[in-house]
Amino acid sequence: MPDLRHTDIQYLHGVGPKRAELLKKELNVKTYYDLLYYFPFRYIDRSFINTVKDLRGDEASVQLRGRFLTFTTAGEGRKRRLQALFTDGTGTIEVVWFNRVASIQKTYNTSTQYILYGKPSFFNNHLNIVHPEVDLANSENIAQGLQGVYNLTETLRNRSFTSRNIHKLVVNVLNTPGVQNIPETLPPELIQRYRMMPLGEALRNIHQPVDQQSLQRAQFRLKFEELFFLELNILHYIKGSSRRLVGHKFPHVGYYFNNFYHHFLQFPLTEAQKRVIREMRHDMGSGKQMNRLLQGDVGSGKTIVAFMTALIALDNGYQACIMAPTEILAGQHLETIQPLAEGLGVKVALLTGSTRKRERTAIHDSLMSGELQILIGTHALIEDTVQFHNLGLAIIDEQHRFGVAQRARLWSKNRVAPPHVLVMTATPIPRTLAMTVYGDLDVSVIDELPPGRKPVTTVLRHEPDRFKMYQFVGSQLRQGRQAYIVYPLIEENEKLDLHALEQGYEQVRDVFPHYNVAMVHGRMKPAVKDHQMMLFATGKAHILVATTVIEVGVNVPNASVMVIEDAERFGLSQLHQLRGRVGRGADQSYCILMARSDLGRDTRHRLQVMTQTNDGFVVAEEDMKLRGPGDMEGTMQSGIAFNLHIANLAQDGQIIQMARNAAEDYLCVDPGMETTWGRKMASHIKEIFDKQTNWGLIS
Ligand code: ADP
Ligand code: MG
Repeated sequence: MPDLRHTDIQYLHGVGPKRAELLKKELNVKTYYDLLYYFPFRYIDRSFINTVKDLRGDEASVQLRGRFLTFTTAGEGRKRRLQALFTDGTGTIEVVWFNRVASIQKTYNTSTQYILYGKPSFFNNHLNIVHPEVDLANSENIAQGLQGVYNLTETLRNRSFTSRNIHKLVVNVLNTPGVQNIPETLPPELIQRYRMMPLGEALRNIHQPVDQQSLQRAQFRLKFEELFFLELNILHYIKGSSRRLVGHKFPHVGYYFNNFYHHFLQFPLTEAQKRVIREMRHDMGSGKQMNRLLQGDVGSGKTIVAFMTALIALDNGYQACIMAPTEILAGQHLETIQPLAEGLGVKVALLTGSTRKRERTAIHDSLMSGELQILIGTHALIEDTVQFHNLGLAIIDEQHRFGVAQRARLWSKNRVAPPHVLVMTATPIPRTLAMTVYGDLDVSVIDELPPGRKPVTTVLRHEPDRFKMYQFVGSQLRQGRQAYIVYPLIEENEKLDLHALEQGYEQVRDVFPHYNVAMVHGRMKPAVKDHQMMLFATGKAHILVATTVIEVGVNVPNASVMVIEDAERFGLSQLHQLRGRVGRGADQSYCILMARSDLGRDTRHRLQVMTQTNDGFVVAEEDMKLRGPGDMEGTMQSGIAFNLHIANLAQDGQIIQMARNAAEDYLCVDPGMETTWGRKMASHIKEIFDKQTNWGLIS
């Protein structure tokens, strides 16, 4: 039997060097194995044939059997197209091609029976199908039941590659002598325990399902396998190695922490805050490097937790730093922390891109001498010129703005051993997923808000309600409260968006002549921006018109209204972040989503999720279902940029959990992966993940 993994695809019957080149370039399919693992992305039921007379034009896809009546070309140059009339005896439908007009005209004729597969639509009041798949209506093509549909690239399509061609090549691999018994990749106990389909059968059924049930079993088997290897890789290689990484040992909780806790802390910590602090004390006392992700919804009180964790570092004679994604946020952290630190006699400084040269030099010096204990700043912190006396703890706030590479640079700030790392995020993702995408991090969750918070009331409004919306904002302002009005800003049409923002600003000033209106956006000079922010933060301005620069972390407890303009243009997580800017005081707060009236179904659903829940985890889960985790902020730079063939991190939560458990169980029995199966799987994992950077090992 050929070695599937290493046999070049060009040797497959029906391929050859030219097509092999295409497959490699377009689909990254290089070997027999790659092709077997190039799975269909959906299936069509070939046994069902539609009739033209019953078509409504809104079907997702239809299958017709009949023949072409006429072919005519129309249009000139780039508009040139081929139009055909197709009949199945119950009616006629137009079929249109915009590419490869000449070759298609040569391929099909009016005397042969064909099967068309495609999506019908209405054009100028009559039904047509654009670019259908066309097959000969022979027995092989009709009687097959479920048939896989494969993703193709534009280039492949232009070279007359069809989904069916791919399928035929897969069948050729499956029919290669010897391939009948594809060797198993999972240990037999596992196959038995989860009643899985053997690999060979699963691969056959994923491409050529016998029936719906076999397809489902094949999908389960292949998803499980993929996730199992992913989890083994994380647990054994990534975590295993970072676990072994020596860290600074912080055995004491001393003066700073205790003094603060007993004399300066102005409110009792929530149980969740206490638990998280305990988890970190344990990590940092263990002698191994801490690498922890702290998830907590907006307003859950992460800052105080960060500060108290820093105090533990100080108690053990180390320095700490806190890195924030924007100058505004770094500034706010300083404002929160400085007064607390002063009481304890702790020296704190702020370092950002706009710190003056002289001050910067002073900071560098006191940092080197160890006199400066806590440094707060933006990514200015990771510049090479910033050297610490002994950095023991690096805290990264709102981590989705930072890449893993930047995190790695922080690690190198201590020559002896990497500092403990605490990454804080308000973008909650479900726990199993977090363990998977942030494979190298342990996860802590603050799942409780400080007492007395009222959930923010969220409503969806449209343009005709604008006047009422302003009236409502006015009523809040009269009660002495403040309001945000936020506009979207996307880079592609930045100019247009800025224009909308400025127009909005003028309108708001017209509507509220007796109130002060501030404005911030990313294009302003930092000094101007800070000044405007300051006006709002101190209550001198009553309304802040802004872009999403205020999205993360900004804290103005007196603000009670958040109006989000063009809300349909924001992602769910982003909306949730924005909403988190209000509801920070004890009074009732409101979030008003202004959106177009003619929203699509998905968009309306997305916005309705916001009106129905205040729970960041629910929002995050919905967000994932709608967008997929690949699109979620954070997951792309999260460290393990793996490429899943079949499993879907958003939808396969249960299988992820099973695979995780199975991997943990396996490592209990074979911790070094040294048994026959262990070695076999280790080499398999190496093949799969070799090309991917192992961020867990960066130090
Ligand atoms: P986030 O988690 O969004 O960063 P913050 O740390 O900014 O939240 O905290 C939000 C507000 O809640 C702050 O004003 C903070 O002082 C307050 N806070 C934090 N913990 C508690 C607590 N246990 N009890 C009461 N208020 C708290
Ligand atoms: Mg915060």
